[in-house]
Amino acid sequence: SAPVFTRALAFGDRVALADQHGSHTYRDLYSRSLSLAREICRLRACTDGDLREERVSFLCSNDVSYVVAQWASWMSGGTAVPLYRKHPRAELEYFIQDSRSSVVLAGQEHVELLSPVVRKLGVPLLPLPPTVYCGADKDPGEEQVPERDWRDRGAMIIYTSGTTGRPKGVVITHHNIWATVTGLVHKWAWTKDDVILHVLPLHHVHGVVNKLLCPLWVGATCVMLPEFSAQLVWEKFLSSQSPRVNVFMAVPTIYSKLMDYHDRHFSQPHVRDFVRAVCEENIRLMVSGSAALPLPVLEKWKCATGHTLLERYGMTEIGMALSNPLATARLPVAVGTPCSQHLPSPLQAPRWLVCWPTTLVNMLSKHLTGSVGTPLPGVEVRIVSENLQKDGCPYIVHAEGNETETRVTPGFEEVEGELLVRGPSVFHGYWDKPEETKNAFTSGGWFKTGDTAVFKDGSYWIRGRTSVDIIKTGGYKVSALEVERLLLGHPSIADVAVIGVPDVTWGQRVTAVVTLREGHSLSHRELKEWARGVLAPYAVPSELLLVEEIPRNQMGKVNKRDLVQQLYPQDR
Ligand code: ATP
Ligand code: MG
Repeated sequence: SAPVFTRALAFGDRVALADQHGSHTYRDLYSRSLSLAREICRLRACTDGDLREERVSFLCSNDVSYVVAQWASWMSGGTAVPLYRKHPRAELEYFIQDSRSSVVLAGQEHVELLSPVVRKLGVPLLPLPPTVYCGADKDPGEEQVPERDWRDRGAMIIYTSGTTGRPKGVVITHHNIWATVTGLVHKWAWTKDDVILHVLPLHHVHGVVNKLLCPLWVGATCVMLPEFSAQLVWEKFLSSQSPRVNVFMAVPTIYSKLMDYHDRHFSQPHVRDFVRAVCEENIRLMVSGSAALPLPVLEKWKCATGHTLLERYGMTEIGMALSNPLATARLPVAVGTPCSQHLPSPLQAPRWLVCWPTTLVNMLSKHLTGSVGTPLPGVEVRIVSENLQKDGCPYIVHAEGNETETRVTPGFEEVEGELLVRGPSVFHGYWDKPEETKNAFTSGGWFKTGDTAVFKDGSYWIRGRTSVDIIKTGGYKVSALEVERLLLGHPSIADVAVIGVPDVTWGQRVTAVVTLREGHSLSHRELKEWARGVLAPYAVPSELLLVEEIPRNQMGKVNKRDLVQQLYPQDR
């Protein structure tokens, strides 16, 4: 469970990172981090060089300074708290104060922003020295970080995305990180020859663990852009310069933006052919996660690049839990049978939906559109519902699985329920929130994700957050995610959020909040006619609201409770 930097010296002169400042070897990262760790300990007057039980917040751009600040926090024995430069000042203040950080590190360009914040909070600020960015620092030689009790030590406090409320600080141990990293390295076959293009924020698990620590664990190279730019991403995909990118990961909204750019700039057929051929040739893996992947994006991406986006499922609290198999990334896109899956009982599924011919394709390809695959190594999952009889176990297990198999309880085939997760990547607690921590686990130590899922066709499917995405309308359960996935296939719809609005007759009514493509119009009648072709009748939106923009957080997710409240203040 040792942190990733402990492997760095073995990779020596290999390029770990390429960014706006140049190329940085594993040895560079190690020696610069060690120097910075000493500075931190000096500042904290820590004589034994081990800041156990201390939190080190840091605000860095997406470049080498981030890795050096993270490793230095670990080398000094502390728990790293990564901050995000686009957070408003009040949020930064909240994270530093809530984590009770004893020191704040600031990248050169963020000192001005943080100075008034730390002054107000009375926390010392350590501006990163210029040597962090391009340090010709002395070779660490024999000097190494001493062995420590890494396993259960807090490595990071990562704040959740705040999609359903105020972000919660999740304490992630070195062992948790090790479990997710080694699971993904195995499942996605990472090697030291991989080169990943990094464009995500570095204060969430997706950007930090999947996209940064996985490559650094195996001695691969991470090419970092200061921020997402569709043009730069396509340039990197198509560039023949070394290091040549062969792995990419992003959230669905980024893939949408990349597709928009593709549609606008690569209009000529021979250019499109070239783009596809280069992507097929150079890139071995493209992953989507953090939110549900819309079907049209998946299909268009397949056409544009030849790659079937590999969807996976994870959370700040559990790291990565489920993933589609790597082997499917080149298979044809198979359309799922979405509406038949959120019914209370498979018997009630309309026959015409169950019989969709694509189900057969799905079963053959094993990459099911909208599915998130099976558990990663070491991860155990359960799909459960509350046991109203309360005889013994507080819940009924519908399905229970691990990396190799899933057992389904007879009578509960394809019945959705809450997803529970257990395993070495699962966190032990929220920072400073003992009550929330207690409520987040069952008595048997399973983490309650709050997401609804179903096991079907040999794969797990995420239906959405139980609290907001499972819309109960007239006795049916409708997955907002599934309706969104399908509505995005409408030619006039640019973006959509499906919400359940309180309704006297139906309990909740399915409402589509829509942003239209430029120059398009859409009436509710038109939408309904179109939607009847792809959705079960009860899932067809009974209301359409056109808006300028759907508010999304930095991971591209919508706070639906806030959205309902904004649009229907009188219903609350
Ligand atoms: P908060 O907990 O503060 O409300 P959040 O849950 O969005 O925010 P994260 O931990 O970053 O914060 O996100 C985890 C959630 O993201 C999961 O609970 C799930 O709802 C969603 N998610 C992740 N991957 C997928 C996926 N492939 N498909 C659908 N949903 C996903
Ligand atoms: Mg959450």
